[in-house]
Amino acid sequence: MTNFIWPTDTKRVTSEFRTGSRPDHHGVDIAESGYHPIYASAKGKVTRSDGNGTYGQCIYIEHAINGQTWETVYAHMRDGSRRVSVGEQVNQGEIIGVMGNTGRSSGPHLHFELHKGNWNANKSNAVDPLDYLGIEEEKEELKIPTEEPSDDNYYRIMSGLFFNMESFENALKRLKEVYTRVVYIAPDKPILEEEEGWRIRFYTGQMQGHNNAQNFKKALESEFSWNFHIVDSKQDYENLVYRRGGESEEIYYRVQTGLFDNVAYYNNARDELKSKYGSVIYEASDDSKLREDEDLRLRFYTGRVMGISAAQALKSRLQQKFTWNFHIVEAVITKE
Ligand SMILES: [Zn+2]
Repeated sequence: MTNFIWPTDTKRVTSEFRTGSRPDHHGVDIAESGYHPIYASAKGKVTRSDGNGTYGQCIYIEHAINGQTWETVYAHMRDGSRRVSVGEQVNQGEIIGVMGNTGRSSGPHLHFELHKGNWNANKSNAVDPLDYLGIEEEKEELKIPTEEPSDDNYYRIMSGLFFNMESFENALKRLKEVYTRVVYIAPDKPILEEEEGWRIRFYTGQMQGHNNAQNFKKALESEFSWNFHIVDSKQDYENLVYRRGGESEEIYYRVQTGLFDNVAYYNNARDELKSKYGSVIYEASDDSKLREDEDLRLRFYTGRVMGISAAQALKSRLQQKFTWNFHIVEAVITKE
């Protein structure tokens, strides 16, 4: 048996292969309402990618498996959703488009064909896809890891914090529709307990190497409108342990400068900081504490870091580069 995976995330078959009532239906129809990505059923080379005819928006992929040529057909895709062009190599499970209703189609569905040999107009090589689908790799389940990552060169991507359970669940559902690598979710300790009942985010699985993590972050950000952040898996794990009831007091911190009471000096310092350390998030005047002999006091803050040890490391780096004093402050989290 050959390894073809289901070409979408639902297995709801609404019309089977060459049935009595549809003897010339040379594929299967898979349909479900909503947003459904279409996956390359096996690794291969794109042999057709266009939007004409009864198939509507359509992709063909040719596969060479153990010396046998196969070809898969994905028809009626959503307008504008085709992601690959003729000649491109695709991996099994790679998203090539989105389920749609283009061409001769009476409702959103994927018409999927499998040919043993190449596709031809008579469909003489078509076989029943349901005889071949289903040898599928298990998707990773949403779970909290129980073992500590052992390698420092692993990264995850995390979403920003969500403050609303409904929007979180919608986001997570949509992410899982497109990417299977959502591994766990983590509640975040409320700093302002009175104002915020809970805060939550999700994390992807581990990726080895920072470049891979950056590429995956880019892919996520092009797919979704939310912010994503790269985190070190090990550090992230330690934070997670806290959130699960451990003893460490890991929360967010910023590093702030001392107060400046001279605008020119302040501006120079801020520019220098920005040029050497990009993450200056905001500036704050401090006139509430203005003394009579001062007409101005200003400071600026870095971006926030997770955990007191990371804040201490940042402070010490800043102190080595600049002559001013820096202080660690607990960051107030605002909505992301
Ligand atoms: Zn069909």
